[in-house]
Amino acid sequence: MTKRQFQHLLETIVNSTQKQEGQFKETAELACDLLSQSLEVDNIGVCLFSGCETSELIAQTGSQSHSSLNKAPLSHDLLNQASRPPQRLCPNYVEQLKRGRIIDVLDVKQDYRVAEISGHLSANAVVSNLDVAIRINGHLEGVLYLESHQPREWSESEIHIVSQVADQLALTLATQRAYDTDERLSLFLKAIEQSEQISMVVNLVTDRVEYVNGAHHAISGVPKQQILGKPLACLDFFKQSPAQAEAVLAQVKQGKIAKGNTQLTREGGESYWLRYRVRPFTTPRGNHYALVTAEDCSEELQQQNELERLAWRCSLTGLYNRSYFNRALEKLRNGHLMLIDLRGFKRFNDTYGHEKGDSLLIEVARRIKHFASVKKAELVARVGSDEFALVLEGIEDEQSLDYAIKRLYHQLSLPVQVGAESFEAKPALSVVEIDALEAEFSALTCADIAVQYAKKKQGSAIQIFNHALLNTFKEDALIERDLQAALKNREFELYYQPLKDLGRQAYIGAEALIRWHHPKKGVLYPGAFIDIAEQTGMIASIGEWVLEAACRQLNLWQHHNINISMHVNVSARQFFSTQLYDQVWQLVTRYRIRPNTLILEITETELMEDVVYATHLCKELAELGVGLAIDDFGTGYSSMRYLKQFPISKLKIDRSFISDLNVSRESREIVSAIIAMAKALNLSLTAEGVETAEQESFLSALSCHQAQGFLYSPALREAEFSQFLRANAETPLH
Ligand code: C2E
Ligand code: MG
Ligand code: MG
Repeated sequence: MTKRQFQHLLETIVNSTQKQEGQFKETAELACDLLSQSLEVDNIGVCLFSGCETSELIAQTGSQSHSSLNKAPLSHDLLNQASRPPQRLCPNYVEQLKRGRIIDVLDVKQDYRVAEISGHLSANAVVSNLDVAIRINGHLEGVLYLESHQPREWSESEIHIVSQVADQLALTLATQRAYDTDERLSLFLKAIEQSEQISMVVNLVTDRVEYVNGAHHAISGVPKQQILGKPLACLDFFKQSPAQAEAVLAQVKQGKIAKGNTQLTREGGESYWLRYRVRPFTTPRGNHYALVTAEDCSEELQQQNELERLAWRCSLTGLYNRSYFNRALEKLRNGHLMLIDLRGFKRFNDTYGHEKGDSLLIEVARRIKHFASVKKAELVARVGSDEFALVLEGIEDEQSLDYAIKRLYHQLSLPVQVGAESFEAKPALSVVEIDALEAEFSALTCADIAVQYAKKKQGSAIQIFNHALLNTFKEDALIERDLQAALKNREFELYYQPLKDLGRQAYIGAEALIRWHHPKKGVLYPGAFIDIAEQTGMIASIGEWVLEAACRQLNLWQHHNINISMHVNVSARQFFSTQLYDQVWQLVTRYRIRPNTLILEITETELMEDVVYATHLCKELAELGVGLAIDDFGTGYSSMRYLKQFPISKLKIDRSFISDLNVSRESREIVSAIIAMAKALNLSLTAEGVETAEQESFLSALSCHQAQGFLYSPALREAEFSQFLRANAETPLH
């Protein structure tokens, strides 16, 4: 082969499109082809070593299959039978190639360099071979081999040509790999650019942004060029949430993954939420970077907030609900819990309708919210249908607490305008100091207990929780438990206290007063259990029993010609229960009670709870002939207008005025005024709690009709009462 021919062969390879485009296989085929045309050999082939375990035949031309393989692609079978075994199986041969690059063998049987592959060569009838390494940067990639079935010396020029061709193949392989790497890189880049998630690479040594994809611009509105290559301080995250951003950076620099959410604002003022994850990594060359991935999670958070709002908020007032409040309260160790209950709200709702009820609640909630914002209290909730709660933190002294309580109470007591009408919200307020509590009861339970006391108060319905309340509550709980069985076990009994007509000096009536023969505690007075019975609703059945027992007794007395009237106390709940009229009607009919001998007593405060309903019921009862007395008169605040409006037959002056008569000029004047008023309204009058003869004479002098009190007798069991009447029989009975 002339030098010129050799030059031509090389130029053909160098200028081929196969080589220029880095198509290794095609170039290898071309090279094998050209060499086989120029040199006297039987086989020419190219084999690549990929790793230690495999070798791959890329191209081959040969005498055995010269006709079929010359230009045609290699068959699949042949490709699988690489002409050179994998590196692991021929370490010595590989070492020769690596170090010497060229193995020129005259006789394969004699040459130790090919001892490891001699079996394979002999099988193909190879006698001489020339193997030249294909290397990139000194790294063995494959081999270009020429084989002869005859003993053959390899000339220097042949070795030179084959080496040059092997170099071209190495170059082609390198180009192909570069192209492949490029292609892969641009594929990855394209993919990352396509992503809707922000990807950013940060150099952890220079603290600069080295890469950021298009999603960043789309999400943040900040163009790529404003941050690419710039220090981290240019990022909105560092500008708008510096503390959080610095913490993330510090964490990542310690080799930890950082993740979280941050709220940022776009240039236009619109805010959005980013969920980020920052993972540090080190390149093979030891450079430290962090990969930041982030996505806009505003919508998701919005939905989450909406769900939380639905789960944790009251839809009417927008305040937190009881579940949320309880959870938040559990975590609090100090502060003052305030509980607000609207007295009579249920009745308000029933009377004026739910729409007005809602408006009232919304306004109350607004006032509480306003108060809370002034006091910087964040925990404000609607904890029941008409109950609100808030926690005040940081109140240092009693004076500020007292001021805060009064202010809130005052604001809530101001009239509420609903449409054209004005209403009172009637708040009851309790306060609990959270850190002063024992673990036994939750703060809200204690506030509930205290608010029940507040509700019962005259004037300002405010109660600060204390441990005495808790003890009473516990005792009440025991009473409540025992009360359940009391009716069934016939533990109640009616006692009777006589009423004396001061004009005629005769006993004309009895007030039925309930007593409870408690199996362990002995005789209990109504003060110990009537309120509890009211609160638990048990008063309905107890009241029914009292009415029945009193009517039965009245019937017996009437049967024995004892003509006295029977006064029966009726509680508010019983009075407004809608069943009272039917009960009374049935009893009056069943026991054939003479008209006007049954008198129901109700306190004026209770009567005033619902004037419209009370007036209606009083009228119905009056038509039935049953008398109505206002009990404990003077302690509540009934107006003259209502007194005229109610068809009541009697007032009972509260004993607090009577007991004061001797000492208090004020009480004397009040009693005189009540007596004068009763005369003017043509109402019968009974003074309660008369204990002394002076009191009696004072009342007689003012022509008070009747008196009741320990001066005459305490309440007595029925037998004793009848005896009392008989003993006083010299006073005529009518
Ligand atoms: P009230 O209707 O004002 O009953 C009068 C209370 O004053 C009775 O107390 C009576 O024992 C007491 N009292 C009478 N005279 C004197 C006196 O001279 N001095 C003093 N210090 N007290 C006197 P009691 O029996 O403890 O009843 C208390 C309250 O319990 C009653 O007040 C009434 O509101 C309620 N009550 C009693 N029985 C019943 C009942 O069957 N049903 C309902 N709903 N309430 C009842
Ligand atoms: Mg009474
Ligand atoms: Mg009374």
